[in-house]
Amino acid sequence: MALTNSQYDQIMRTYERKQRSARLGLEEKKREIYAAVPELQELEETIASFSVKQARLLLEGDPSALHILKDQLEKARKKREALLQGAGFSMADLMPVYECPDCKDTGYIDGKRCHCLKQAAIDLVYTQSNIKSILATENFDTLSLDYYADAPIDPTTGRSPLDNAKLAVAACHSFIDRFDREFENIFFYGSTGVGKTFLSNCIAKELLDSGHSVLYFTSFQLFTILEKSKFHQDADAMQQEDDLFTCDLLIIDDLGAELTNSFSVSQLFLCLNERLLRKRSTIISSNLDLEKLFETYSERNFSRIISNYLLLKLTGADIRLQKRTQ
Ligand SMILES: [Zn+2]
Repeated sequence: MALTNSQYDQIMRTYERKQRSARLGLEEKKREIYAAVPELQELEETIASFSVKQARLLLEGDPSALHILKDQLEKARKKREALLQGAGFSMADLMPVYECPDCKDTGYIDGKRCHCLKQAAIDLVYTQSNIKSILATENFDTLSLDYYADAPIDPTTGRSPLDNAKLAVAACHSFIDRFDREFENIFFYGSTGVGKTFLSNCIAKELLDSGHSVLYFTSFQLFTILEKSKFHQDADAMQQEDDLFTCDLLIIDDLGAELTNSFSVSQLFLCLNERLLRKRSTIISSNLDLEKLFETYSERNFSRIISNYLLLKLTGADIRLQKRTQ
């Protein structure tokens, strides 16, 4: 994800703020602990000075004295732990609490961008904060199968709405579990309001939480970017097009809701094909049934989806309508 200098500075300022707040949080916690266990402060200083001595002895190569010092250090550390526990604290209370423990809120691990920085860049460029608030309410914890009935049986799948939903949920879980090992894609289809977007959101939340870069677009937004990139040579859109091909997971919501033409058909193929070649997972949801998908997006797109995507059909009554009449 390429950022302009000012975008980069803007993000790095948030990292400085995070580090400062971790530092201040730790200082406050230490004050609280030292007030409760006054001798701990002195002990901390002793441990620090032992550690310095140990480092010096290691440099000077004096193994005999080192042995005694190690012993003293060990005893002091044990005493510290006992004191902490006695007052209802733990060692973790003497450590800073970072938003991202992986990079300690620096944004970098071994000189490479941490997953949190990659996602921060995506969030900034695509202002996906609206999605984050949706994900707070649409996730596996809030998913309910109560809206799926055990009848009627769908002729294509041979299953009830409830069984289709159960199967889809299990498939979503295994998609997430295997995400870093296996290259998989999902095509959710079925009529309006049967939970396709909800399940995409469940997956998005889990993968975002585990540090993957996730981009979410309605098909309308997707084709707008591709059009701006192709016909208007729009620099932002060209960068976004690149991100479309490279992010860990791309979600295309509501495919078929846009006005389709030969441009969207060919661009969809370009996008799906690029991601297949790069082994980057994609989730598509659509109200179109498979026959309509074939008619609308041509045989090339259809065969890419049929042969590379797990097809999950959801059925049943419109959940939004059910919620409204409750
Ligand atoms: Zn990080």
